Amino acid sequence: MAGTLDFSPDDRYNAFITTCAEAPFGDGPLAGTAVAVKDNISTAGIRTTCGSKILDGYVPPYDAHVVDLLRRAGAAIVGKTNMDEFGMGSTTETSAFGPTRNPVDLTRVPGGSSGGSAAAVAAGLVPMALGTDTGGSIRCPAAFCGIAGLKPTYGRVSRYGLIAYANSLEQVGPMARTVEDVSRLMSVIAHYDPRDSTMLDRPYNHRPSAEVKGLRIGIPEEYFGEGVDPRVGESVRDAIGVLEGLGAETVPVSIPGMRHALAAYYVICTSEASSNLARFDGVRYGPAVDTRKSWHEAYQDLRRELLGAEVRRRIMLGTFALSAGYAGQYYAKAQVARRKIREDFGRALREADVIAGPTMPTVAFRLGEKTDPISMYLSDILTAPANLAGIPAISVPCGRVDGLPVGLQIMGRQFEDERVVDVAFAYEQEVRA
Ligand code: GLN
Repeated sequence: MAGTLDFSPDDRYNAFITTCAEAPFGDGPLAGTAVAVKDNISTAGIRTTCGSKILDGYVPPYDAHVVDLLRRAGAAIVGKTNMDEFGMGSTTETSAFGPTRNPVDLTRVPGGSSGGSAAAVAAGLVPMALGTDTGGSIRCPAAFCGIAGLKPTYGRVSRYGLIAYANSLEQVGPMARTVEDVSRLMSVIAHYDPRDSTMLDRPYNHRPSAEVKGLRIGIPEEYFGEGVDPRVGESVRDAIGVLEGLGAETVPVSIPGMRHALAAYYVICTSEASSNLARFDGVRYGPAVDTRKSWHEAYQDLRRELLGAEVRRRIMLGTFALSAGYAGQYYAKAQVARRKIREDFGRALREADVIAGPTMPTVAFRLGEKTDPISMYLSDILTAPANLAGIPAISVPCGRVDGLPVGLQIMGRQFEDERVVDVAFAYEQEVRA
């Protein structure tokens, strides 16, 4: 029961920003199940910070649609999980509430930006959690912590009540120790909500099947190329071999647009972030404002003080990319690249039913290991393309390198979330047996 949960082990991980002993509501498919929720998803009456000082003390007056659905399914929301500030990062080190540690190895990062959700699940503090994924933030921490996580098709889960980072890319999604639980949680959260105009009425209500006979798995060479640790590539190839043993076939596919993926992703996400984050002026939440200063001065000083370096960097990059005279060179070009990547995936997913590759190019980094932003951004190379294309992608644990978990990523056609879940389930069942 939620009321008796022991959070003391979290002193080691710092997976939670806020914990709350909430009584579960009656019955439903998740009756009495403790669920952790990433701290950029609004929870009525529970502080929601986005991992930022600028929202410290913000208590939303309403629930996000997904939270409402969780409550109605009987789940107990037991806490809000740590994250990179506003979702910007791949390690959970940019949180204003201190970094989260990877339960598999406390000297390593859990991945990000949904690192707190992944760590809470991997440490056994909760069986399942919600994360959000703009460029890999569910799949990266799932891979690094050795759990499963799904980024749903864009438009399949409501973003109402999600504090936006980059609207055209992000989705809320389920994280859990097993694919079956990922699918259970997905069945609860993927229901139509007219309050999110980008949503389609395609509810997910699925029980995973391990049947993969005759399935065509596309293997994109770009997912095994430069920058990918060969030992990670090897683990993933072995996992694909397991699926072949179950009757699936592999076909080579290609996503030539991949070479523009990171540039396009970072122009688009920073542009959208610069616009989304303009509303945070530090006036209502966070420390008191110095009213003797002019508005401009106060706004600048507060944002300098209350937003972290990575968030400020991205606001500046995005503002520049959208500014008059440059928007054509950057933002419009990024949209062209995005369309090309989407077309490449469309073609590859006609030649194959799903696409498989590693989730992350390496295993979890050491805390403090990545110091320059470019090398951090490079780690998103295998995850951000699915966000640009709007397609579903799941990460499921497949073996270890240096004792650290590796993630197998399965991507599918739009609205074929069920299929990527099935393939991950088939693999998981086979290796667990
Ligand atoms: N690491 C990526 C970024 O920093 C992805 C983040 C996310 O998916 N929220 O933008």
